[in-house]
Amino acid sequence: MAENKKQVVLSGIRATGRLHLGNFLGALRNFARYSNDPQYSCFFFVADWHTITTLTDTAQIKQFLPEIILDYLAAGVDHEKSTIFVQSSIPETAELFWILSCFTQKSELERIPTFKDKALKHAENVNAGLFNYPVLMAADILGPQADLVPVGKDQEPHLEMAKELARKFNRLCGETFAVPHSMAEEMIIVPGLDGTGKMGKSEGNTINLDDTEDAVRAKIKVAVTDPARQRRTDPGSPSKCNVYTLHTMLSSDDELKYCADGCTSASIGCAECKTILANNTIALLKPFQERRLVLAEKKGLVFDVLHAGQITARQTIAKTVEIVREKIGLLRF
Ligand code: SF4
Repeated sequence: MAENKKQVVLSGIRATGRLHLGNFLGALRNFARYSNDPQYSCFFFVADWHTITTLTDTAQIKQFLPEIILDYLAAGVDHEKSTIFVQSSIPETAELFWILSCFTQKSELERIPTFKDKALKHAENVNAGLFNYPVLMAADILGPQADLVPVGKDQEPHLEMAKELARKFNRLCGETFAVPHSMAEEMIIVPGLDGTGKMGKSEGNTINLDDTEDAVRAKIKVAVTDPARQRRTDPGSPSKCNVYTLHTMLSSDDELKYCADGCTSASIGCAECKTILANNTIALLKPFQERRLVLAEKKGLVFDVLHAGQITARQTIAKTVEIVREKIGLLRF
C-alpha cells in the first residue's frame, strides 16, 4: 500500500570486500541511473547484517563500508535524490525480520537453493543467520515498501519469498505491504576473467575499481578466451569467450562487429581483441576513479551521507513496522 506515487526501488550490497567491475556494471551503474530518474524513490544500503552470515573477520566491515559508499557516490548515485544507509542502523528492520520469521515455515527456507549452495560453500559455518537470510532480505524489501528490486538471477528465489510473505501477511492481517517486483531484466551477469561464471571477489577473477591502467591491461592480457583458439590462425567463437561477453558491456557496436568478425575469421588475434577491451575498461574506470579521489578528500562526507540516509530510512521503515505491530496486536506501553 505504497502511498508514494514514485516507484520505490531498493537494493543493497554486502560489505565482504572492495567492489569490482562486476559490481559496477551489474549494480552501481543502474543505481546511479535510478537515483537520477524522477519516477523512482531509491533506497540503497550496505548489507552489513547479511555480511556477517559468511564473513569470519567481521572487523573488516569497518574498513570496507566507507569504501563502498564512496564507490556508490563516485559511480553517480545522487545521495540527495536517494537514501543511502547501512542496514544495521535500522533496528526496526530486525523487528520486522522477527515478525516475518513467524510467518515463514522452516520447510520454505529449506527449499531455497541459495541456502544449500551457501551451506556447501561455508560448510564450517552453517549458522542460523545463513538459514534465515531470505527472511531478513524480505524485511529489507518490505520495510521501505519497495515496489522494484534489482536482483541478480541468483537472488530471485529470495525475492519470491518476499513477495509470498507480503501476500500472506496482506491476506491474513489486511493490506499492509506493497508486493515487490523484480528488475532482473535490467541486471546483467558480468563474467570473470578466468573463463568460469560470474566475476566475484572470492573467485579472484575480478578487475577492481581501483586497479591502475597497467593492472587492468595485465589482467585482461591473461584472461581466458575461447579454448578453440590455440593458435592465431584458429578461428574462434565469441559466444564461448568471456572476453567477448565483456566487450558486449563495454565496447561500441563497430568494435563488437570488428572483434566478432575478426575472431570467427581468425583475421585478428586475441591480443588485439583484448587491447580494445582494455582500452574501453580503462576509459570507463578513469572518470570514476578521478571522481572517487575528489570525494575521498571530503572529510566527513561518508558519515554525513549515512547519517542523513539513516534518518530517512528509519522514518520510512519505522512507519511500516508500526502498522505491522498494530495489525498483529503488539501493544506499546
Ligand atoms: S578474438 Fe576475442 S572473442 Fe575471439 S577468442 Fe580471442 S579474445 Fe575471445
